[in-house]
Amino acid sequence: MFDSLQALPADPILGLMQLYRNDAHPQKVDLGVGVYKNDAGQTPVMAAVKAAEVQLLAQQNSKTYVGPAGNEAFVALMKQLTFGECLSSVDDRLAAVQTPGGCGALKVAAELIKTASPTAAIWVSSPTWGNHIPLLGNAGLQLREYPYLSQCQTQLDWPAMQAAMDQVKAGDVVLLHGSCHNPTGVDLTLAQWQWLADKALEKGFIPFVDMAYQGFGDGIEEDAAGLRYMASVLPELLLAVSCSKNFGLYRERVGMVVAMCPSGGASVAATTHMLSIVRGIYSMPPDHGAAIVAHLLANGALANEWRAELDSMRLRIQQLRCQFADTMAALGYPEFQFVANQKGMFSYLGISQPQVTWLAEQKSIYLLSSSRASIAGLSRDNLDYVCHSLAQSIT
Ligand code: PMP
Repeated sequence: MFDSLQALPADPILGLMQLYRNDAHPQKVDLGVGVYKNDAGQTPVMAAVKAAEVQLLAQQNSKTYVGPAGNEAFVALMKQLTFGECLSSVDDRLAAVQTPGGCGALKVAAELIKTASPTAAIWVSSPTWGNHIPLLGNAGLQLREYPYLSQCQTQLDWPAMQAAMDQVKAGDVVLLHGSCHNPTGVDLTLAQWQWLADKALEKGFIPFVDMAYQGFGDGIEEDAAGLRYMASVLPELLLAVSCSKNFGLYRERVGMVVAMCPSGGASVAATTHMLSIVRGIYSMPPDHGAAIVAHLLANGALANEWRAELDSMRLRIQQLRCQFADTMAALGYPEFQFVANQKGMFSYLGISQPQVTWLAEQKSIYLLSSSRASIAGLSRDNLDYVCHSLAQSIT
């Protein structure tokens, strides 16, 4: 049977990580992988997460099954974190379960859409995070693209996106990045979220918010403003949440999927379908990471410590963005100012594929061929080297 299989091409991000690992250059820089790094280039366990984990280990007296819906306390607290002040007015219409990471949430949501409406198309931004395509498309749903970036690759093409929304049919789903758009760093303003909510009402499409970076853009509450506005005015929406970045729990696989339904009755039915989908894929999500988040968010002091640490991570990224733009301007390239204005972990640098290859081969600086750079991979120590090398690649 397996003789018939042909090897697939390497995943571009994993391939890049391998090249970086094998490179002996003392100044090598990894701007590929999307994990937060501190100035020492490490991704440490967040202090509040560690403290919660220690307390949890001391208290936990059973590892018996939790169930397909996962940790209920986690789901309740995460709904609060994401929906915030509008939760009380929509909570009885929410079907929500814990999932293995944001990827698990996207997959369960895709299967739920397929169950409820097999002919619905899902519209994703062009470009979008590469894994959206298999996670959503493999459910058998039709994927459509809406334009997102202008010609220069560094700004939103709002008129083109607006025009595309007129093509979306009633019952279709439009995937929006909650904050810190991956891969471009180009976010929607609250006024644009409001316009999209009006459009969803007018056309009858369903927004699907992928929230993988809450707290990395403008702040925990600010980053959820678009989602909260939509939840307060629309009958239906979908939400996929990841705790990988903002709790630094990447490998523990922690996330949540939510379907906001038009009525309480519909949400009860949607929950039964979610649970049946979960049973047919992975049966139950892993508990450890969700239990840490639940413990942390339920404890005022730990929650405050976590918020402060996340704030400092966000500010560090913003500072790196500004330092990068300032250094490029000082080298004669003020056009990189856009990096300072964008949000979250990633930006498209807007350089060509040969330039990206040159940076990898000649300077041991690794970014994706699309020119997506992970800003968190910059540091005090490597920023000058990266900027000088980039300037050299342009001239
Ligand atoms: N959505 C987006 C846009 C992402 O960037 C990521 C992580 N790279 C995810 C979802 C899912 O993350 P995870 O499954 O690791 O929680």
